[in-house]
Amino acid sequence: MKNTGPSSRLRLLFLAAVVLPAALLAVLAARSINREEAYIEKQIETALDAELVHVVSRMNAELERLREELERSSPDDAGDPAAVFAVWKEAGPLIRTPFLLSADFEILWPRPRVGASEDELAFLKANREFVTDKTEIPVYQNIVEVYGQEIVDLAASQKPSPETAAGEEKDEPSSLRSLERKEAEPREAPSGETSSPNKAAETARPSVSRAKASDAGAEYAQTQMAIKEFESSENIRRQVYQQARERGREPLSRNVVPDAGTESERKAPGRRESIFISEAMTFSRIIAGRESGLIARFLGEELFLFFWKRAADGAILGCVLDPPALRSRLTGLLPETYTPSRILTVLDERGRPLYRPEEEKGRDWRRPFASREVSELLPRWEAAAYLTDPDLIRSRAGFRALVLWILVLTFLVSILAGGTWTLNTFRREIELARNKTTFVTNVSHELKTPLTSIRMFAEMLKEGRPADPGKREQYLGLMVSETDRLTRLVNNVLDFSRMEKGKKTYAPKLVDAGRLVGEIAAGQRPRLEHQGFRLDVRVPDGSVLVRADEEALKQAVLNLLSNAENYSDATREIEIEATAAAEEVFIRVSDRGIGVPRQHAKKIFQEFYRADDSLTARTKGTGLGLTIARRLVRDQGGDLVYAARPGGGSLFEIRLPRVETP
Ligand code: ADP
Repeated sequence: MKNTGPSSRLRLLFLAAVVLPAALLAVLAARSINREEAYIEKQIETALDAELVHVVSRMNAELERLREELERSSPDDAGDPAAVFAVWKEAGPLIRTPFLLSADFEILWPRPRVGASEDELAFLKANREFVTDKTEIPVYQNIVEVYGQEIVDLAASQKPSPETAAGEEKDEPSSLRSLERKEAEPREAPSGETSSPNKAAETARPSVSRAKASDAGAEYAQTQMAIKEFESSENIRRQVYQQARERGREPLSRNVVPDAGTESERKAPGRRESIFISEAMTFSRIIAGRESGLIARFLGEELFLFFWKRAADGAILGCVLDPPALRSRLTGLLPETYTPSRILTVLDERGRPLYRPEEEKGRDWRRPFASREVSELLPRWEAAAYLTDPDLIRSRAGFRALVLWILVLTFLVSILAGGTWTLNTFRREIELARNKTTFVTNVSHELKTPLTSIRMFAEMLKEGRPADPGKREQYLGLMVSETDRLTRLVNNVLDFSRMEKGKKTYAPKLVDAGRLVGEIAAGQRPRLEHQGFRLDVRVPDGSVLVRADEEALKQAVLNLLSNAENYSDATREIEIEATAAAEEVFIRVSDRGIGVPRQHAKKIFQEFYRADDSLTARTKGTGLGLTIARRLVRDQGGDLVYAARPGGGSLFEIRLPRVETP
């Protein structure tokens, strides 16, 4: 409409202070909400992993307990193996095939004899070469325990601490040196003495940290660090596996494909690799320097555990454990396996679950959501967790995303609404301020025009001009009507300020709208006709009553009439009408003038508002006439509305509640 400067600046301000930050917020929110699924998956994985760690450590503790039991129950001296072993076997179902070897690995028992059991014959067939120390078998070790020192060194070289950076080790990766050092020394045989959990935390072996650790505490700390670094750094994992492979220590192949994590996480090297690596060793090397232990050995696909110990006379005795008995003992260790949200179980060396709920027949056990290898004594065994409902994560994430979106949208809507509201208020204030300035100019002009003509006529009359009494009469008439105009203007301004202050008072009484319209028309007719207007008046026959302040109503109608006069062009026709319906009385003032452009129609009732307020506007005004007229009518309990008049021009309609004739 008018000057666009401030309003386009406001628009810029709105964009910069409200829209842009809101859009930024929305984008950030969208991004973090999209990550919700991964986040929830990670949360669930962490929770399940904690349970798996628990299962694994219980299993390892149980294996250690089992070894101790066997050590206690086993005979110290097997002078008469047949008799002694028969007694030993009664100690429990785990002891399947006892054996006895001389100090130099000669088989003393079982002997291929008449009456030898099937187990004994099978033992001899499968293990003769191994127990007589003629062949090597793969021995499984935890990679973190074997390469603990290297992991710690690698980690240190990757994040140089101030000391190492300043120290003498900064040029050459210390890990390589320590690897070389390690390889140069003869490797210690793996422990069979204690069953080490794959969380090496529980039993740190001396081999891990002999290079540096001086006492058990430091050793423990170092192992912990190695585990942490190994689990968290893909880079370290890759390097350590590479080292292991180069030394001929292949990782075991795993039975499961963990399902959790993103695609790239699942594919990350080391994530699917076993933490157990194997090394070929002879029996004598395995047991070197130890008093007793357990050995894991695959015969075909099946895993067997061997218990051995040194007898008092230097002979070696032991037994093969019964796999079903071992399984059932370990199965008893599982915590609550089945909850509404997850299944927890342990898979054996062939990937079969120890515990299998009836309703889970069709499940793919090799794809757990999360899993952990159990022990080097149970190679290829995995503690595994499954989600009962595969859609759990998605539905949970979906729900959270929904809630977050609602929050974000509410936030955005309130920002935008608040911003728009503030902006509009701002704009209105600016417009009002501008209108007020024009108002002052307009009022001065409006006051001056009638004053000038009154003065002009008065001077002429004073000088005795014109002589024609008819003309003089006409001049006097014009002076009166100009005075009327002045009065109305001053009244409008005074009324407005009274209304603003809330001080305008009314004296309502019963008014006949028809009579009022008639009187106003009669009063205005001479002047209007003098200006070349045709005035049509229509009033009902009987009286139509309203309750109103007569002066107020009259002023409203006069304002409308004056507008009709001011905004008429070539066609000078004004119609004023009073009619009544059952409930309402209407006073209509219509003209065939310039009309109100549609975009201004809503605003013409605003204070100081003028459809054309340019300097070149043909009609000057204050922008108060309609504001006051509407307020006056509304104060009488009615309303004033505008409509474009069919056929051109404007139509203003005053509506008031009708009062029945008493
Ligand atoms: P003013 O006439 O002093 O400007 P009003 O409040 O009476 O103030 O009217 C506001 C605006 O409405 C006018 O400036 C004019 O643009 C428009 N308007 C009012 N009455 C008419 C009419 N009868 N025909 C055309 N436009 C009108």
